Amino acid sequence: MGSRFSTRKSRQSGLCWGTALRVAAIALVLVGWVLADPTGTAVAEALNPPAFSTIDVLPEGERTWLRDAVAYQISMGRSLDMAVREIKALKSFPEQWSEPQLAALVGAMYQRLTAPPQRPSRRPRALALIGDRYHDPAYIRPPLEEAMEKAGVAVAFLYDVRQLVPQVVFQYDLLVILRDGMLWPDPQPNGSFGKPVFWLTEEQEMTVASFVWAGGGFLALHNATALKALNETESLYLRVLGASYAGHGPAQEGYYVRVLNGSHPVTAGVHDYFVEDERHWPRLYVSDALVLLESASGEETSLHGFVRTFGLGRVCYLANGHNRRVLESDVMQRILRNAARWCLEPRLDVVENLER
Ligand SMILES: [Zn+2]
Repeated sequence: MGSRFSTRKSRQSGLCWGTALRVAAIALVLVGWVLADPTGTAVAEALNPPAFSTIDVLPEGERTWLRDAVAYQISMGRSLDMAVREIKALKSFPEQWSEPQLAALVGAMYQRLTAPPQRPSRRPRALALIGDRYHDPAYIRPPLEEAMEKAGVAVAFLYDVRQLVPQVVFQYDLLVILRDGMLWPDPQPNGSFGKPVFWLTEEQEMTVASFVWAGGGFLALHNATALKALNETESLYLRVLGASYAGHGPAQEGYYVRVLNGSHPVTAGVHDYFVEDERHWPRLYVSDALVLLESASGEETSLHGFVRTFGLGRVCYLANGHNRRVLESDVMQRILRNAARWCLEPRLDVVENLER
C-alpha cells in the first residue's frame, strides 16, 4: 500500500496535466453533443410514451409505493423479470392489486425509471443518483427533495446507473450522488443477494469528470466515496472527488460532528452536532481540500466533510446519509442546502442568462 501511494504521489504532476488535457478534450466533445440538441427533444421524447398512463392514474400513495419498490430494484441493477419476482415476494403491495396487475404496473414503472429522468424546466437543476442495496432510495428522496427545494434547486432523481451518460448529465447544473459502486443483479431464491458487480465504467468516470471540470457542481454524499471501488487508490473518479471509501462503523453509531471551519458558506449557521448514523472514515488523497467537518467517536476522529475544486467545478463531500432521520434533521437540511448553493455558485451567472 505504502509503495503504491508513493508512486502515485511522484507521478502526480505529470498525470494532472495529462488528465486535464484529456478531460478538456472530452468536455468539448460532450458539450457539442448537448448543444446539438439544445432543447433536449430527443431525451424528452423518451419520457412519456403512452404506456406510462396506467401508473399516472394510481392514487398518489400507491404510485409512490410502486415507484420506491421499483426504484430499489433498479438501483441494484436488476432486470424487469427479476424486479417483478422480488416485488411479488414482498407481499406488501396494495391488496387491491392482483398479481398480474402488479406485474403490469411494475413493468410500466420500470420503463419510466430506466428512461432518462424528466428534466425540470426550472434552473438551476440537479440530477440526484440515489439508492443501492444498503441505501433504499425511498428514504433518501424525500429529505433530498426538501433540501433542494430550500436551496431553490429543481431536482430529478436517477436510479438506473446506465443513465449516467453525458446526454443526461450535461443537462444539469449539479450532480448529487448517494450510492455506492455495486449492483446486485442476481438475487438467489434462498434470500441471498448473490454476487456484486461494480458498474462505474471509464466512460462514466469521464462523464463525471468532464461535467465538473466544465463548471458543474458535485455534491457527493455518504458512500459516494465507493462509487468506483472499495478502498481504491487510483482512478479518475478519485481525482475528481479527492477521497475514497476506507470503511465505516455500525448503522446506528452515536457520535459528534465537529465544525472545523465555520466561516465557509457550506457550514454557515452550523454548529457541532450529535448524530446517530453510520460513521464513514474516508481517506483523503488530495492536498487542496478544505476540511470542514470531522467526526469524533471517543478518542477517534475522522474526515467527515470537505470541499475542493476540480477545473471550474466545485466539489463537496458530506459523510452523513445512512439514516433518514439524519437527512431530515435541521442541521443536515441546512448543510445540504448550503452545499448545493455553494457547488452551484460558478454556474449561477450562466444559468441566469440561459433560456428557462
Ligand atoms: Zn450507509
